[in-house]
Amino acid sequence: MKTIGVLTSGGDAPGMNAAIRAVVRTAITLGMNVKGIRSGYSGLIHDDVIDLDARSVSDIISRGGTMLYTARSKSFMTEEGMMTAVETCKKHGIEGVVVIGGDGSFRGARDLSVRGIPCVGVPGTIDNDIASTEYTIGFDTAMNTAVEMIDKIRDTAQSHHRCSVIEVMGRHAGYIALQVGIATGATAILVPELTVDLESVVKKIIAVEKTGKKHFIIVVAEGVGGVDKIAAYIQEKTGIDSRATVLGHVQRGGNPTVRDRVRATQMGSAAVHLLYNGVGNRVVAYKKGEIVDFDIYEALNMTKSFDEGMLEVAHETAI
Ligand code: ATP
Repeated sequence: MKTIGVLTSGGDAPGMNAAIRAVVRTAITLGMNVKGIRSGYSGLIHDDVIDLDARSVSDIISRGGTMLYTARSKSFMTEEGMMTAVETCKKHGIEGVVVIGGDGSFRGARDLSVRGIPCVGVPGTIDNDIASTEYTIGFDTAMNTAVEMIDKIRDTAQSHHRCSVIEVMGRHAGYIALQVGIATGATAILVPELTVDLESVVKKIIAVEKTGKKHFIIVVAEGVGGVDKIAAYIQEKTGIDSRATVLGHVQRGGNPTVRDRVRATQMGSAAVHLLYNGVGNRVVAYKKGEIVDFDIYEALNMTKSFDEGMLEVAHETAI
């Protein structure tokens, strides 16, 4: 391939910029040209394509967000939209595309691949909810941001002898909640993968309070939600002043951590090497300490299990 495109799609994640940088510079090192497609698949519908060189991606490795912008495009999901996207690629000589995003974006990459534009997916989402990979770009930064925020909430919860019920992101998955809950010493962690049992949470708070604990952190995954109601319920049943906080989009921003920058660089580079070798319809993944790749169909059919053992560890240590 002589020219490839790169786009970011779905929710933004810290480290996407580092992945773009890796894609651009690896491609240039291998002698290819790179086009930046702005605002995800929408950029292919509206012909928003720019030239990128090594200097275009200077100073972005440390920045959150995505210099190519991201979007969710409904019109791309029609046959007409996809054919327009193919035409835009052809117009700019784009022979393959690196798609940085989540599962939905990978479905788009699969659909473009079958229409003659080979695509390689790079997992970029804070939620770590992509079955084919143990790690997604942005997960580490989002968790660290959530931990930093909850540490601050803990200070005030501790001063007032409060129970803080805090919602963290993750969409339908509880991976952020699980690790953040452990890292902040939460008394309970509620995730959508398991039945939410508020009575057990209340019992635990009461039992732990009897041992002298005066403040409590309850981490709730976005997929469970309802933190206001949960806080009100805990207050009613325990008599402990309880407050709800939704951390929200702060978790999507900020400078990417070392881990996100390094994984993003490795994955972006791997994606370009696949296209360079004429291989498309693949997704890059991180498995057992290595960067690997899978067929997109295969990857989209994989399932990810929830680490209940880790939740048990959290439960046993939060006493
Ligand atoms: P995140 O996990 O951050 O939400 P995502 O990539 O899963 O990221 P989606 O909104 O599901 O986010 O998908 C992003 C875009 O990918 C959609 O707006 C659409 O343009 C395209 N897309 C999603 N699903 C499909 C599909 N089934 N077929 C073709 N394109 C799709």
